[in-house]
Amino acid sequence: MDVKSLLYRLTSLFLIMSLMGWKKVETPSEQMLNYCQLFQKIQVDVREQTVSPDSAARAFQEVMRKIQQQLTHPDSCRSEQQSTAFVYPLRGYQPKYSIGGGGRGYYNKGFNLFDMEVKSGHPAHDLFIRDGNQDNLDDRMCLPVDLLAISSGIVLATETNWQPESELRGGNFIWVYDPCLNGLFYYAHNSRVVVEPGQWVKAGEKIGEVGRTGFNAYKERSPTHLHLMFLRLDADFLPEPENTIDWLRNAETREW
Ligand SMILES: [Zn+2]
Repeated sequence: MDVKSLLYRLTSLFLIMSLMGWKKVETPSEQMLNYCQLFQKIQVDVREQTVSPDSAARAFQEVMRKIQQQLTHPDSCRSEQQSTAFVYPLRGYQPKYSIGGGGRGYYNKGFNLFDMEVKSGHPAHDLFIRDGNQDNLDDRMCLPVDLLAISSGIVLATETNWQPESELRGGNFIWVYDPCLNGLFYYAHNSRVVVEPGQWVKAGEKIGEVGRTGFNAYKERSPTHLHLMFLRLDADFLPEPENTIDWLRNAETREW
């Protein structure tokens, strides 16, 4: 083989390899799905206590930083905030009559997302529906109650297959990251989830239906409700619960 044909072969090989390599580069949506999987894995590891709280927190910081980098466009956030208010997450309901304890249900007592041993506090609001017979249907309308996204964001994780024998407290839950607020909404106890990780949702869009899934929420003593928590990410991308009562009280409501 002469030098010329050797060079030719090497060049072709190089071209083919770079083409194959190019194909392996992930698109932004593939990358986002990977981040979603990582986000979900951290939660599972924390739940199963296969990871220390510290390393779970570090992994969380890393993945949330990447997600924010991929999503944040300061201009879109500015126009978003001006054009959309928060939407009350229960379709057909008024905040005044459905927020548990008149808004006093929230108390934050050292909540730690990464430590299963820490169980104190209820840094969330429970929003109740009229469901005396506990069949997941509104008693007057005889319909499921749509769960609406309170603000726009990207769905990071969902649970869709909760079973009554499961000890999972959140039941069928949804995590949505709002890049403009730089925070996470957690919607728990749903009967149905109609969104998927990686999917963008707009404020007011249907993301599920209110239900009774979850270790405690399934029990008869628990009236049917949505458990809604908001975690704001601090400068280090660590989650800190925040009281959403003013957002909920002033939210736009949506009719049946
Ligand atoms: Zn709750």
